[in-house]
Amino acid sequence: MECIFCKSTDIRELNSFNDYSICACNVCNTVFADQVADNKEYYFLSPKKSSGVLKQKLANSAKSITAEFYYNYLTNNLGTAVISSVLDIGADRGHLLRLFEKQGVKAVGIEADRIRAANPVASDLRVGFFDEDYVLDERFNLVCFTQNMSYFRDNRSILKKASSLLNGGGYIFIATVNGDSPMAVKHFSKYGNPNNCACILSKKGWSEICDLFEFDLLDYSFYEPPMLKDIVSKRWFRLPQYMICPSKAYYRTDINGHHALILLKRRKGV
Ligand SMILES: [Zn+2]
Repeated sequence: MECIFCKSTDIRELNSFNDYSICACNVCNTVFADQVADNKEYYFLSPKKSSGVLKQKLANSAKSITAEFYYNYLTNNLGTAVISSVLDIGADRGHLLRLFEKQGVKAVGIEADRIRAANPVASDLRVGFFDEDYVLDERFNLVCFTQNMSYFRDNRSILKKASSLLNGGGYIFIATVNGDSPMAVKHFSKYGNPNNCACILSKKGWSEICDLFEFDLLDYSFYEPPMLKDIVSKRWFRLPQYMICPSKAYYRTDINGHHALILLKRRKGV
């Protein structure tokens, strides 16, 4: 077996399940499942059933808190004047889009889960499965991947596709698992499955992609997401605390934070 990113054969197994393993590359630190999963079938063609009313309410509050966190991160780093049009890939019900819409920004979302997309909180949320072949004849100056990059096996192709959707000198925002955090990798290899653990790059991997597609790495920050960890672990009873105090939902850390927020800027003239 070889690393799906750098092709090295220096691989270690992090966790094994009945029919797949989660592995890590000792050269580039990429974490990946050793089986290729069909995410189009899993998430798009056979969407999950809707959950109970109370759980949906808690989940929506959590999504609003997360959207505020991403929105504040983006506007703090880029300034509101810079962001004129946004594409959110994996937009869920459109909570992040709604915040941009309120400011008069053109905001388009793509969501594979029909149940989520059926009750949008933003005006332009489209049902669709984004991959290298997705057809979209519009251009944006900010493309967001919010907690879905680990579902894509070939991150180079996805970034190439996202780059083609930018107008001149645009930005790409990625909120994803921090592949450099031993704790995050341990957590993810325990709960991951072949579908949502297709590929998690380290900072080294993202830096290589930046050079390949002529992006500057504007920011690479590490955050701890207690709220999302509670959701993943189904500790729903702990969610109300974040609604009372949203600042507890995420906090910045050193390299050990479970999540990385990555901001790329396309170099001028590309
Ligand atoms: Zn590798």
